[in-house]
Amino acid sequence: MSLKKQSMVVVPCSGIGKSLGTVTREAAYELCDNLRPSDTRLVALSKLVLGDAEACDLVRSSPAVTIDGCKQMCASKLVKHNGGKVALEFAVFDAFRSHKDLKPEGIAELNPEGKQLARVLAEEIAEHLDAIGCSGAELGGPHA
Ligand code: SF4
Repeated sequence: MSLKKQSMVVVPCSGIGKSLGTVTREAAYELCDNLRPSDTRLVALSKLVLGDAEACDLVRSSPAVTIDGCKQMCASKLVKHNGGKVALEFAVFDAFRSHKDLKPEGIAELNPEGKQLARVLAEEIAEHLDAIGCSGAELGGPHA
């Protein structure tokens, strides 16, 4: 049986002032701009915080991939708070736990290890997206 891919919204946490938060955004850009541009749509967390109508509609109408920097899981919480469904949930600290040699440092500009961690995380998410069939909501990621 062939399964049709569904477009996903990707919501990284804002993580302003934290290296882990910068990694979430870099991973989201890598995923949405380079790895899976036709399957994903990036939604900034700040737009959900501000109640932007288009952003809120997007998370309500498509399953979401959230990328959080730490255990506060702000992106995941905001998607659910706005009536969205989190299909895949990722956290940078989990990726770092698996790649201890890639310690992210820097905020405005990540160090090379942080950039590599973002790429590794984006590739991991892309693999999960490839595994998704007709509905991402049916699968779930590491925390779903
Ligand atoms: S999940 Fe953590 S790093 Fe990201 S915005 Fe929330 S508190 Fe900041």
